This record gives sequence, structure tokens and C-alpha cells, in this order.
Amino acid sequence: MSDTTPSSFRPDLLAGQVAFVTGGATGIGKEICRVLGRHGARIAMLSRKEDRLKAAVEELHGEGIAAHHEVGDVREPDAVAAAVRGILARFGRIDILVNNAAGNFPAPMTQISPNGFRSVVAIDLLGTYNVSRAVFYAWLRDHGGNIVNISAPFELKGVALQAHVAAAKAGVDSLTRTCAVEWGPYGIRVNAVAPGSIEGTEGVQRFSDAVANPGPGSPLGITGHGSDIAHAVLFFCSPAARFISGQVIAVDGAATVDQLKLGLGRV
Ligand code: NAP
Repeated sequence: MSDTTPSSFRPDLLAGQVAFVTGGATGIGKEICRVLGRHGARIAMLSRKEDRLKAAVEELHGEGIAAHHEVGDVREPDAVAAAVRGILARFGRIDILVNNAAGNFPAPMTQISPNGFRSVVAIDLLGTYNVSRAVFYAWLRDHGGNIVNISAPFELKGVALQAHVAAAKAGVDSLTRTCAVEWGPYGIRVNAVAPGSIEGTEGVQRFSDAVANPGPGSPLGITGHGSDIAHAVLFFCSPAARFISGQVIAVDGAATVDQLKLGLGRV
């Protein structure tokens, strides 16, 4: 997966800013790092597997992007606090936080163990709470900035094989709105991007493997790329979005609002 969408934004849009992306070493998170980095931000990422972090940092360095990694688990407040200290020691500020880290495996309710359910909620929802709170106290409270949570377009749906993820992401959407209200007075905007099926990601591959017919694509007739999500994140972090906060935007080619899914094409 690589950035295939040409940018509509100035290359120096985020010059001087630091973006912290959880789960930034792989998939959509890596594309977010790349796109924010290409627009001038220095990049910090946090996740558990150091080999993947090192490879991603090296890849970004090769593209001329300043990048740094911290190893840790978003479920652990102490590890998160240590990572935030490490990023501040390295870059001196955190202007943008993207809560992207998540767990996922497709399974029916009957086959999700209590531990599996707890684990996904702990990574997606509790992790978003842990990291947002740590960055709020360490930087955003005194300086303002942007938080963008990566959700999923599930909140008002029943989503087969995704009970744990849908519940966790509904919580993330709720947290997005509450943080926007509570932290708006600190000059912090909080929004969320809810990706549709994104080509080339492990999550989509696992889902396609688990179902006989993954269903029609989007009404737009195109598949989503990581860069589509990254550019939505970039928009939320740009001055063009200065009056937008507390919003969850689906980036899915209209798949979520397509109630009948008839795949009619042009009518
Ligand atoms: P991915 O490639 O599986 O990436 C998830 C990242 O999160 C990995 O880098 C992983 O690294 C990290 N992570 C997982 N558990 C962690 C933990 N406990 N602490 C710290 N880091 C952790 O996922 P993706 O498909 O790119 O998805 C990215 C985001 O988009 C997720 O929020 C996902 O829910 C959302 N989304 C994706 C799709 C899609 O089509 N792929 C659709 C809807 C929503 P380690 O394992 O090394 O920790």
C-alpha cells in the first residue's frame, strides 16, 4: 500500500508540527505518517513490534521525513506516558495525535472469547482514552492542537463478525464528541475518520478470507486506499477545518449510506 492520491494541500502545510500516530508502522497508520510527513510534520509512532517500527521509520527517513518510534502498548497508561515523554524529548512538541492503533479479527459473537472481546475494546477504546489523556496533559492542554481518531463506519449498524470492533468504535465515536466538547476551550479540535474497506490492509484480507461473499464495493465503484484516509486526516488538521470539531466522517465511497446495496451502477 502506498500513497497514490496526489495531494491538494501545500507541501509545507504542517511545517514545524509534530504528529504522533499510534499503530503508525503498518497499514493505514503508515500512510497517515507518510502523508502528514510529506506535508512537513515530523512523525512519531508507537506500537508493540519494534522490527516493524524500525522498518517504517527507515522507510520514512528514505523519503526525507523526520521520524521517531516508541515501543509500547496503548493499553498500558505507564507505557503510554513513557512514550509521550520520549517523543517530547526527541521533538519537543506534539501538535497532532492520531489514535489509529487497533485490534481486529473477524468472528461471530459466539466465537469471540471474553478475552478477545476485552482485548479489542482495550486497544481501540481504552487505548484512545489513554493516549488522548496523556498527550492532553503533556502538551495539548497548554498549546492546543488536533486529535483525529480512526474509527469505522459501524456506529448505527449491526455488523456481522465485528461485534467487538463495532462496539469499541462506537465508543471511540462517543469519546470523539465528548473530548471535542470538553477540550474545545483549550483550542483542541477532536474529529474522527471512519474508513470503509481499504485495499491492501491485513484487516480487509482477513475479512475477505472469512466470508464467502464480501459483498459489492462502494457506489463510487472504486476501492479505498490508505492515502484516502490520510488525506481526510490531513484536512482535519488543516486550518481549512478550523471550525470543525466533534465530527466523525466516513471515507468509504458512500458504502455506509448505501441502504439497499443493489450494485445498480448508473440508473
Ligand atoms: P493494522 O495494519 O492491523 O494496524 C494496526 C496497528 O496498530 C499495527 O501497527 C499494530 O502494531 C498497532 N497496534 C495493535 N495493537 C496495539 C497495542 N495494543 N498497542 C499499540 N499498538 C497496537 O490495521 P489497519 O487495517 O491499517 O487499520 C488502521 C485503523 O483503521 C484501525 O483503527 C482500524 O480499526 C481502522 N479501520 C481499518 C479498515 C480497513 O479497511 N483496514 C476499515 C475500517 C477501519 P503492533 O501489532 O506492532 O502493536
